[in-house]
Amino acid sequence: MRLSDKAEEILESMWIAIEEEGAAFLDLDLIGFALDDPACRELAGHALVEVRQGMLYFRPEGREEGRATIRRHRLAERLMMDVFNIKGEEGDLKACEFEHLLNEGVDVKLCTMLNHPTTCPHGKPIPPGDCCQQARQNGDLGVVPLTECKSGQQGEIAYIQTEDSKKMQKLMAMGVLPGNRILLTQAFPSYIFKVGFSEFAIDTALAREIFVRKL
Ligand SMILES: [Zn+2]
Ligand SMILES: [Zn+2]
Repeated sequence: MRLSDKAEEILESMWIAIEEEGAAFLDLDLIGFALDDPACRELAGHALVEVRQGMLYFRPEGREEGRATIRRHRLAERLMMDVFNIKGEEGDLKACEFEHLLNEGVDVKLCTMLNHPTTCPHGKPIPPGDCCQQARQNGDLGVVPLTECKSGQQGEIAYIQTEDSKKMQKLMAMGVLPGNRILLTQAFPSYIFKVGFSEFAIDTALAREIFVRKL
């Protein structure tokens, strides 16, 4: 189902009010929407919500859709803030735009890349998807910072998270590039790893900025 961005935002507000804060319905006035707003008609037209005396109630299909929508929103927040390092208001805004592109399986790919996070950067729960359950069963840890690997562990570099171009250049010169294999040979007192045939030592702060997919 492809809903308008506005309709998805209403579903998110409903999810927060009803599922997380325990209300029975969402008061449209509170989020600045009018009953005759096309987005409300759209939701009612798809039989996702019921409107009674100016209040919005979930129908079961709407609750499912709301859950999926809030999941995409919070995954998008993690992408903006953790991977792209766009924080604060700008990160919120970008996440709001990006979430609408995350349907049809893209959310599964993103969730896997982010290591099936359970909370958004604001600490709100991300409803788990089938991918999260499967990963847990397989003991699959997805992408983690190098600091969460043990010595002897091998991985593939997924991405580097740093705003500092000097650090980025330093890592690139070592061959720390997405797609390359990395073998951690020592995790204390500093991190020593092999990329190709070369071995390098870095401190914890830098190791925290290298994200690897464990193999
Ligand atoms: Zn959040
Ligand atoms: Zn997942």
